[in-house]
Amino acid sequence: MKKFRCTMCNFIYEGGKAPDKCPRCGAPKEKFEQIPEDKAKLIERSKLSNGLHMHLATLLEEVTQVATKGINDNLDPACVAIFTKAKEQAHLLRQFIKAEIQVHISKGKWG
Ligand SMILES: [Zn+2]
Repeated sequence: MKKFRCTMCNFIYEGGKAPDKCPRCGAPKEKFEQIPEDKAKLIERSKLSNGLHMHLATLLEEVTQVATKGINDNLDPACVAIFTKAKEQAHLLRQFIKAEIQVHISKGKWG
């Protein structure tokens, strides 16, 4: 599948040819440029990993919410220590994921 990038807003359109206007910003089709095939393949190759990163980030958000409930419940110090550790590690991993996604975007592994 060919990919076309809107040079005004970075929206990526997938199809046989550029759309008549950008679905996101309304720019005319002249504002679209085709993404070269090798770069389009890199985007496709990266989709699974990108999706896994986003899924993991969502799960880590849930870990944070569960851990926060445990901290607030405050049953005993050993429980709170575990929940606190879980919350800290979930936050750290989410920051790793955000940084990695930014690397993917800067290297054209996103689209
Ligand atoms: Zn656009």
